[in-house]
Amino acid sequence: MSVVYDRVALIGLGLIASSMFWAMKRAGLAGEVTGYARSAETRETARRIGLCDRVCDSAAEAVDGADLVVLCVPVGAMGAVAKEIGPMLKPGATVSDVGSVKRAVIDAVGPHIPAGVHFVPGHPLAGTEHSGPESGFAELFDNRWCLLVPVTGSDPQAVARLRTLWEGMGSYVDEMDPDHHDLVLAVTSHAPHLIAYTMVGVADDLRRVTDSEVIKYSAAGFRDFTRIAASDPTMWRDVFLTNKDATLEILGRFTEELFALQRAIRTGDGDHLHAYFTRTRAIRRGIIEAGQDTDAPDFGRVKRDG
Ligand code: NAP
Repeated sequence: MSVVYDRVALIGLGLIASSMFWAMKRAGLAGEVTGYARSAETRETARRIGLCDRVCDSAAEAVDGADLVVLCVPVGAMGAVAKEIGPMLKPGATVSDVGSVKRAVIDAVGPHIPAGVHFVPGHPLAGTEHSGPESGFAELFDNRWCLLVPVTGSDPQAVARLRTLWEGMGSYVDEMDPDHHDLVLAVTSHAPHLIAYTMVGVADDLRRVTDSEVIKYSAAGFRDFTRIAASDPTMWRDVFLTNKDATLEILGRFTEELFALQRAIRTGDGDHLHAYFTRTRAIRRGIIEAGQDTDAPDFGRVKRDG
């Protein structure tokens, strides 16, 4: 792979930014990568582990001369960061982001992008429950989708170049409209996270099941809920506050289905339960056939942390 951008700036140095850095280095996609994080502690960690070719002490310094700037901060912080860097952006540069919600990011960031700078929002559908500069790894995006969400007037060449970068980092790339993105993600990611948070919260409330029992006997189902419910609180607070309508729509449907299943259990309607579970099993098969997970036990997850 050859260099796609001479200068890339990563604003925010957590899981996604650090994975992008290692993935870009793995494939030689960027000349120089600069980085900035809000806290001195994160910047210090980044310098210590060699995350970014140059760690800067201000966002303005990091974006100075950059051909691509990627906002890798929580969704609720995107607008303020864009406002800060807007005046420093190089004409012809591209600004992108990796936020989990797209409409709110477009509304918050768009007004701060000067004329002559391209804005191409994005969202890699890859992550873990870990956060921070030390949690990233080059393979995070391999065989995962990255959705690009061009806004009105996005330059096709700028979109194509960003696509090349994501493909070079291992992703499959698709384009999607922002509202559709937010609805799809409410189904596939946001509502499931809220359900996991709730289930773990319920188990925590059930003091009859002591902590040690919850941990000792946690079967694959609950254990996987705890993994999801360990995700970063700031990131997920922002996701729900900014993808409010789509999440509430899906949760409304979820509640209706849950009531129907509850009723089937109460009335002993085994046919309803069996038909429902047969339908859902087919979805799992579809995901495996699409190469988005393996059918190995324990969801095929590699234990990265030992
Ligand atoms: P992370 O590991 O928690 O890192 C977040 C980074 O943003 C940190 O460097 C943090 O700086 C900085 N930051 C936080 N609040 C800020 C603020 N108010 N102003 C400026 N900088 C701030 O997060 P992440 O998991 O990489 O997520 C980053 C973005 O990717 C989010 O928008 C998220 O929705 C999206 N995303 C996440 C996943 C996932 O699974 N994690 C997947 C796809 C997309 P300090 O360290 O100095 O506090």
